[in-house]
Amino acid sequence: MNEHDSERIAGILAERGYVAASEPEDADLILINTCSVREKADQKAFSYLGRLRELKAKNPLLKIALCGCTAQLMGKKIFQRAPYVDLVFGTQNIDRLGFLLDEISQKQERLVEIVQDREGPSSSGRRVRAHSNKTLITIMEGCDNFCSYCVVPYTRGRERSRGAEEIVAEVAELARDGVYEVTLLGQNVNSYGGANGVNFPDLLSRINSVDGLKRIRFVTSHPKDFSQELISAIRDLDKVCEHIHLPVQSGSDQVLAAMNRRYTANDYLEIVSSLRQAIPDVSLTTDIIVGFPGETESDFQATLDLVKRVKFDVIFSFIYSPRPGIKAVEFGENIPRDVALERFDRLLSLQDTVRADKMVKDVGEIYEVLVEGVSKSDPSRLSGRTRTNKLVHFTGPDKLIGQFISVRIYETLAHSMLGELTDN
Ligand code: SAH
Ligand code: SF4
Repeated sequence: MNEHDSERIAGILAERGYVAASEPEDADLILINTCSVREKADQKAFSYLGRLRELKAKNPLLKIALCGCTAQLMGKKIFQRAPYVDLVFGTQNIDRLGFLLDEISQKQERLVEIVQDREGPSSSGRRVRAHSNKTLITIMEGCDNFCSYCVVPYTRGRERSRGAEEIVAEVAELARDGVYEVTLLGQNVNSYGGANGVNFPDLLSRINSVDGLKRIRFVTSHPKDFSQELISAIRDLDKVCEHIHLPVQSGSDQVLAAMNRRYTANDYLEIVSSLRQAIPDVSLTTDIIVGFPGETESDFQATLDLVKRVKFDVIFSFIYSPRPGIKAVEFGENIPRDVALERFDRLLSLQDTVRADKMVKDVGEIYEVLVEGVSKSDPSRLSGRTRTNKLVHFTGPDKLIGQFISVRIYETLAHSMLGELTDN
C-alpha cells in the first residue's frame, strides 16, 4: 500500500511539473513515505531524516515532507525530533498534497495535516506507475480487526471500501492504457463490501470481465474471511492468478487467540486443503511472527509443524516488535531477544529446506511469464513473473518487455528461477 501511495504522490508531483532529482543534493523537495508496522522501519525513516538536517542547513529553500503511517501516528511530534521538517501529512491526506505544498511555500511556515477515517479511500488519481504493464489499485482501506500486535488500525483508520463501479471503471481505464495485470490492495481485501451488497468474489468477477486485462492479484487476505465462495471464484475466474498470500502469523492456537486472529491452526489448514483441492497448483505465501509475548517453545514447535504441513512457497517472517498503542504491549514480558532470534533462524532454515524441495519440481516446467523488464540481478537477462508470482530470468530481446511469453525452467535459485524461451 505504501508503494501505491508513493505512485500516487509521484503522480501529483509530476502534474505540478516536478521531475525526479538524481541526487538528494539536487532536490527542491524531499518526501519520505514512512511505514510503522515494525520499529526498524520507523528507525530507518528517522535515520534518513537525520541525514537531511545537513542538506537543509546548506540549502534553506529545500522543503522536507514526511507522510505515511509514522506521520499519521506522530503528527506534530515529528517536529520535536526533526524541527527542520516543513510538512507532515497523514495516510488519508495524499490527494491534498498539491494544496499543502502551495501552503508551505506561500506561508513559509511548517504544516501538519492529519485526518481520521475519511469517508472512503480515494481513487488512485493520476499516478506515475513503476511498471507500464502492471499496477496496484486500492479497493478498500483501513482495518477493524485489531490484531493485538498491529498498529495498522491506528494508522489507516477503520475499514472503508470503494464502490465497485468506480473500481471497475479505473481498472478498465488502466487496461486501455496498456496495463495487463492489477493487484487489488487492502489491509483485508476479502472483507471488501461495496454498496449494493457487492462482496469480494462479486468484485473479482466484475473485474474479470474487463477487456484487455489479463491477470488479477490481490493482497492481503485474512483467513477468517476466506470463504468457499472466494475459493470457487479464484478457481473459476480465468484472470485471477493462482497465488494467495494468506498470513497465518502462528501455528499455536494459544498464540493465535492472544493475537486476536479469530481462527485456529486447524481452521487455517482446512482453508489450505480446500484451496489445494480446488486449485491444485496454487502458490501459497504467508507472514509469520516469531517471539510474540508469551510464545513458549511448544507454541513455536506448533508453528514449525504448520510450516512443515503446508509447505508454503514463500514465508515473510518477522520478530515481534512492540509498537506504540498496540494491545500486546500490555501482555507482560517480551521473549528475550536471543531466544526470538534463535527461533527465527530455525524457522528460516526449515523454510529453506521446504523451498528447495518444492523448487526442484519446477525444473522442466513451462510457465506463462509476463515480461517486466531487464533483470535487476543480471542486465544481460530479462525477467518476469509467472501467474503464481514466481520470478523468472531468461535471455531474450528487449522487445519482449510487456509481452506474455512461454518459458521452460532449467534451474532454480534461492528466490527466482532461470528459464529459456520455448517455441510457442
Ligand atoms: N493486513 C495484513 C498485513 C498487515 S502488516 C494482514 O492482516 O496480514 C504485514 C505483516 O507485518 C503482518 O502480517 C505481520 O506478520 C507483520 N507485523 C505486523 N505488526 C507486527 C509487529 N508488531 N511485530 C512484528 N511483525 C508485525
Ligand atoms: Fe493488522 Fe490484523 Fe488488520 Fe492485518 S488484519 S492490518 S495484521 S490488525
